[in-house]
Amino acid sequence: MSCKKILFGISSWMIFFITAAFAVSCCTMLFVTTLSETLDITLTKENISVAAKLTFVNVLLISLIFTVIDAIRRRLMVERPSKRIIEAGEKITSGDFSVHIEPFSDNHAYESFNSIIHCFNKMAEELGSLETLRTDFIANVSHELKTPLSVIQNYGTMLHSPDLPDEKRIEYAKGITENSRRLASLITNILKLNKLENQQIFPVSERFDLSEQLCQSLLQFEEKWEQEGIEIETDIADEIYINSDAELLGLVRNNLLSNAFKFTEIGTVSVFLIADEDYATVKISDTGCGISAETGTHIFEKFYQGDTSHAMQGNGLGLALVKRVIDIMQGEITVESEVGKGSTFTVKLKRGEVVGMEKAD
Ligand code: ADP
Repeated sequence: MSCKKILFGISSWMIFFITAAFAVSCCTMLFVTTLSETLDITLTKENISVAAKLTFVNVLLISLIFTVIDAIRRRLMVERPSKRIIEAGEKITSGDFSVHIEPFSDNHAYESFNSIIHCFNKMAEELGSLETLRTDFIANVSHELKTPLSVIQNYGTMLHSPDLPDEKRIEYAKGITENSRRLASLITNILKLNKLENQQIFPVSERFDLSEQLCQSLLQFEEKWEQEGIEIETDIADEIYINSDAELLGLVRNNLLSNAFKFTEIGTVSVFLIADEDYATVKISDTGCGISAETGTHIFEKFYQGDTSHAMQGNGLGLALVKRVIDIMQGEITVESEVGKGSTFTVKLKRGEVVGMEKAD
């Protein structure tokens, strides 16, 4: 503590307690004078002066003792825990989120401080995991951007070659188109996910025929299943109307169907739709490579790609988007899978307030 601070403390202590001692002495003298008059005791000027001085010194002494006790109490009970919290706060502001304040063992005496410490530790933990997410996200985005960019760069350089055969030129141009498409899809997905996470997209509830939309989504992959000889199996109940956001649900259907076709080399992709009064359940199955238990725990994470052999065709954001949409719609998504046998993604959606005959199966 600086000398200036100590002097300031003493002077404010003196001003306050000398005034208090003076006031108490005056009151005591008034009391003594009244008492002596009532009891008919004669007090000399000297008696009164001694009593006044004694009272004044007593008050000063007692207040000094209490001040010292209070200063010690404050130092132990207030300043010590405050210092711990302030030091941790300073570490956090300088970017160190690993701080953890040890709570006080005497919970009774430090109950309020322990509550603050508990909230503080929780906040530091949350900030730490947000920071990890942020740095991981930047690393993932940079990696995903760099790969197609360097492919585009290489093809572009090769296209400069003057005596390039026509077929090579077409191949390189195709490579550039394909990778630009990949970049565009990555950026679109990042923006969509960002909007969904920041709740800038509000689901618009409209009544639509889920059965019809599911068939239309499936037909978009017709070229693919014909080219690759993939079998299609469907059991889609007719006219299942739901009240939901058709565009957002389109994102779910397309991602799940695109994955089913992407991860199935030879085999069958099946689409089922059943419904009861309250829920519509869509199942998209494939007999593709399947998902291991370890991969299964990460598939809904951003940028996670379990099967890297198909990395060129995706960016690991599809299922993260699907999960976010399903959460916003308060639906459910589950996965059953076996390596080498295939996977089934089941999406259960609330049908909402759908009036009329169509709601029945
Ligand atoms: P990607 O763009 O890589 O397809 P997704 O988020 O859609 O990203 O999927 C994440 C990972 O989940 C994939 O890399 C893959 O390992 C796994 N996966 C998703 N769907 C299937 C499926 N139908 N069959 C096998 N693996 C799948």
